[in-house]
Amino acid sequence: MIDIALWSGVASGLKTAVDIGKTIKEINDLTVIRSKVIEMQDIILGAQSSAMAVQTQLFELIQENSELKAKVAAVDDWKATAARYQLKDYGEGTYAYELKEDAANGEPPHKLCPVCFENDKRSLLQFQGKTVSKQHMYKCHSCGGDFYLGTRSETSWPSRANRRV
Ligand SMILES: [Zn+2]
Repeated sequence: MIDIALWSGVASGLKTAVDIGKTIKEINDLTVIRSKVIEMQDIILGAQSSAMAVQTQLFELIQENSELKAKVAAVDDWKATAARYQLKDYGEGTYAYELKEDAANGEPPHKLCPVCFENDKRSLLQFQGKTVSKQHMYKCHSCGGDFYLGTRSETSWPSRANRRV
């Protein structure tokens, strides 16, 4: 934040220096002129120092503004990305984000990792196969999470009588 007092100090200092400059024209005593010039130099140096401090604060503000703009843009980008997906219940409390058909933009259907999604990150789930209980196994290569989607069907082990010996 810019220190307003510092900035008004610069302006008033320069005004005082100009006023002294105007009075010098009317002074004939060289000793008085010298002391007035020295006084002016001190005021101008003080104003210059304050102006540099204000300039530093201004650069910090410009940098901070640029960083905030980048953060806002990133949030806006993520909101646009997130709006293309919806949370889908695959049964028995198994969830993932799925690409909405009307927002596919030519991309094939796919699912996103629910953990990465909550951290504002788009990470595709990769199909790994089916479990014995017929759930679909997916892996997120970003967070390393394993996801089992779908309802579990009862596994039927062959009865002893049906087993071949
Ligand atoms: Zn993930």
